Amino acid sequence: MKKQQGSQTIDIIGVGIGAFNLSLAALLQKSKAEYKFFDQKKEFGWHKGMLLENAKLQVHFLKDLASCVDPSNPYTFLSYLVEQGRIYQFLNRKKSTISRYEFNHYFKWAAERIPGLHFGEKVIDVRYNDGVFNVITEHKSFNSTHIVIGTGATPYIPDRFKECLNKSFFHNYEFKQRMETTNFSNKKIAIIGGGQSGAEVFDTIISSQNRPEKIIWASKRLNFQALEDSCFSNEFYTPHYVRYFYQLPNHVRDRKLGEQHLTSDGIIQDFADDIYNKLYELKYFHDKNIKFELIPNHTLTKVEKNNHGYVITLFDQDLEKAINCDVDIIILATGYRSKIPECLRNLLPEYSSFDMLPINPDYSFSWAHDKTNKIFVQNGAKHTHGIADPNLSLAAWRNTIIINSLLNKPLYKTEMIQPIMGRTSLEISKKMSILSLEDNELINTTVGNL
Ligand SMILES: Cc1cc2nc3c(=O)[nH]c(=O)nc-3n(C[C@H](O)[C@H](O)[C@H](O)COP(=O)(O)OP(=O)(O)OC[C@H]3O[C@@H](n4cnc5c(N)ncnc54)[C@H](O)[C@@H]3O)c2cc1C
Repeated sequence: MKKQQGSQTIDIIGVGIGAFNLSLAALLQKSKAEYKFFDQKKEFGWHKGMLLENAKLQVHFLKDLASCVDPSNPYTFLSYLVEQGRIYQFLNRKKSTISRYEFNHYFKWAAERIPGLHFGEKVIDVRYNDGVFNVITEHKSFNSTHIVIGTGATPYIPDRFKECLNKSFFHNYEFKQRMETTNFSNKKIAIIGGGQSGAEVFDTIISSQNRPEKIIWASKRLNFQALEDSCFSNEFYTPHYVRYFYQLPNHVRDRKLGEQHLTSDGIIQDFADDIYNKLYELKYFHDKNIKFELIPNHTLTKVEKNNHGYVITLFDQDLEKAINCDVDIIILATGYRSKIPECLRNLLPEYSSFDMLPINPDYSFSWAHDKTNKIFVQNGAKHTHGIADPNLSLAAWRNTIIINSLLNKPLYKTEMIQPIMGRTSLEISKKMSILSLEDNELINTTVGNL
């Protein structure tokens, strides 16, 4: 039987402590809300399997846990730099891009200091009964009035390949660990997927001391497309645009997400150019024997094991014919998908994916008890709130919406009234009243003693 922690009901429990719930915890410090957040990992780690030397943060470092909404919060990136004693050296770099390694170090620094975070505590079930959530971890059980789901996305592996995975056929989420134990020299490697992760893996392998015999980099996209990162594209990553997006009809939202996907899923332009230049130098001067094939417009359709490794079938979308290649190692850089975690099976039995959930403007799941007991969802509202949802850009702002709704009062300013682009009409503000500081119609939430 689970050990019951008395009958005390706290205000909110967080399931998962990734980047987004970490930001929520940092911003909750300004409130008196009683909270506990749990993560299954022993310590904080931000996509550790992809913390490669070449990995750069894809947003400005000020889009950290708190700066964009509360620069005086003690857990900002600048506070971290000052505390670590390297703010001047950081500025001397004259660069606004930083490594994901450094940002992970910053997140970990914050996770070690923010109270109420419990690592090594996997949530295995969540039940709702009579106005209270019962959150059951591997060790204990806790009660809360509200919960916030921050379990992140799951590596996407096409169904037909799920059974075949092993130490020479894997998803890039575990690339770093595999790389440390695998000798690539004399091997033929296929990387499937032409986004930023595929590019980081390809670049790491061609830059390594033990370069493989041959490397294939295939993508179903029409080219190795760069991230669309103009000032105007970045307007999709603003609070104002979230409001605009929310009030669009579903079919228009779907269309927009398709149209905008390169603003989040392409390869960082400079990085793509660096890879091209590296290949130029290697092929024509430094390693004329290097063998690589960069093939966009090709989809992986079949993998067959043979005595030496694998025969992979790639379908050429232009010529509409299949080609076979012998390889020893296959790395899937096929992205991530939202999936409702097992621990929510009992609570949300009719949903398998977050992108099916009806989500209120305040990022809570729309259900029978959402006036009194909220299920907030981090990183699961792209279909309702727009392309920025899985991105760090608006994480802090989203958390101010969540906190204001939780407290039923505007603790944080959420109105950003100076957009460069788009409509500012009253119509949008009304529909998104929950997001508006001036609006008195905040949903009547029953939270005691905040
Ligand atoms: C390799 C990579 C690089 C990225 N780089 C950028 C970038 O540069 N810029 C950007 O804007 N975005 C980036 N993103 C997108 C996004 O910012 C990150 O995915 C971000 O980490 C999402 O945060 P999250 O809190 O939703 O999930 P995660 O950070 O994935 O955290 C989820 C946490 O939930 C825990 N968990 C899951 N189930 C349970 C359970 N049952 N009980 C307890 N704990 C559980 C997991 O252990 C994990 O720690 C990147 C994504 C990836 C995959």
